[in-house]
Amino acid sequence: MRQSKLFTRTRKESPADEVSKNAELLIRGGFVHKEMAGVYSYLPLGLRVLRKIENIIREEMDKIGGQEVLMSSFQPKDNWEKTGRWSAMDDLYKVSDSSSREIALGPTHEEIVVPILKNYASSHKDFPVAIYQIQNKFRMELRAKSGMLRGREFIMKDMYSFHTSKEDFENFYEKMKGVYKTIFKRVGIGHITYLCFASGGTFSEYSHEFQTVTSAGEDTIYVDEASGSALNKEVLNDEVLNQLNLTKEKLAEHKAIEVGNIFDLKTKYSAPFDLSYTDEKGEKSTVLMGCYGIGLGRLLGTVVEALADDKGIIWPESIAPFAIHLLALGDDEVVLGEANKIYENLLKAGVEVLFDDREEVSAGEKFSDADLLGMPWRAVVSARSLKDNGIELKKRTEEKGKIVSLDELLKLLAPNH
Ligand code: ATP
Ligand code: MG
Repeated sequence: MRQSKLFTRTRKESPADEVSKNAELLIRGGFVHKEMAGVYSYLPLGLRVLRKIENIIREEMDKIGGQEVLMSSFQPKDNWEKTGRWSAMDDLYKVSDSSSREIALGPTHEEIVVPILKNYASSHKDFPVAIYQIQNKFRMELRAKSGMLRGREFIMKDMYSFHTSKEDFENFYEKMKGVYKTIFKRVGIGHITYLCFASGGTFSEYSHEFQTVTSAGEDTIYVDEASGSALNKEVLNDEVLNQLNLTKEKLAEHKAIEVGNIFDLKTKYSAPFDLSYTDEKGEKSTVLMGCYGIGLGRLLGTVVEALADDKGIIWPESIAPFAIHLLALGDDEVVLGEANKIYENLLKAGVEVLFDDREEVSAGEKFSDADLLGMPWRAVVSARSLKDNGIELKKRTEEKGKIVSLDELLKLLAPNH
């Protein structure tokens, strides 16, 4: 994409109404646009990142047998009364229409997915099933000061699994731990993300969170570096430490943000809707459920928080909006001609490239934009680089670059082409 055609612009000043680093950098780079506290629109650069995260998650959900759906955001009040959450859930948005009918604006989808499945499944042969979606959620969050980390409207991947035995559920739950690890590794934060034990305080009522260590985190976790085990501060008691075989003195305290979690729901939502199955003997039992969430916007914001440096964003290759940022410096016709040729060649080889072809923008501005926008590679074409017969190539994370030829650049970025 030619940067001269991109309708968004970078800006030098930080937005006055944002305190979080992720929102500041994403807004300055033109990745997102703030509509109100906790509500952001995705712009072309931001959407490219979001789509890549989405595709990684979708691939991993499909691999484990998930069936993708897209459920409605408007949800019937009746369903929420059945589970007791119409009045119990503080952060539920309730909207009413002209006939004073009240509707819930979905913060999660147990109340929708369970009745859907009940339409189709009733025999033990219909299970197990795993259903997921990637969709906007609405929650009346009190504190929405953390940019993409805590939205009032945000995008979540939510999966719900349905089982006829505890053993089958536990099997799937264990597999999901591995799937989640793979996702966070692929997104580029595997090295700072911990599987973290969490619960209401007792070992029987547990869940697991995936916590990414960053100073912007709202949670405090304790990590046992030797084993990689971690637990949430809220559950730090002797019973839990014993069960996990951990010693309090050996744990390191970190601030962290929950990027995903997995829950054992038992029959909490299947029972109110009487989602049940008949076994081989014709006996009826209630279906067991698990649920598995990942916040996509929060994940995107977490990558920014955790990996950025003082010059700007650093995108991992797997989710960068473009693989490379190509800069043409100066208004020399020869330089512009060469840069155009390189751009066309990269496109032909299938490389995703952002081409800073803007005229009347200084070299200094182009360099600082490249740092702010954070593509993994930066390639500079200038009178100087052409004197050396090449392109000055540099990694975003490194200080020094080197001169390469177009052929070498293509080999590096499109090795199979
Ligand atoms: P938190 O404790 O941070 O409020 P939660 O326990 O309410 O999270 P879930 O309801 O389990 O979260 O949602 C699943 C995932 O969705 C979370 O792990 C997180 O990644 C994401 N998520 C939850 N709330 C938000 C939000 N307000 N903005 C962005 N992402 C969110
Ligand atoms: Mg919450």
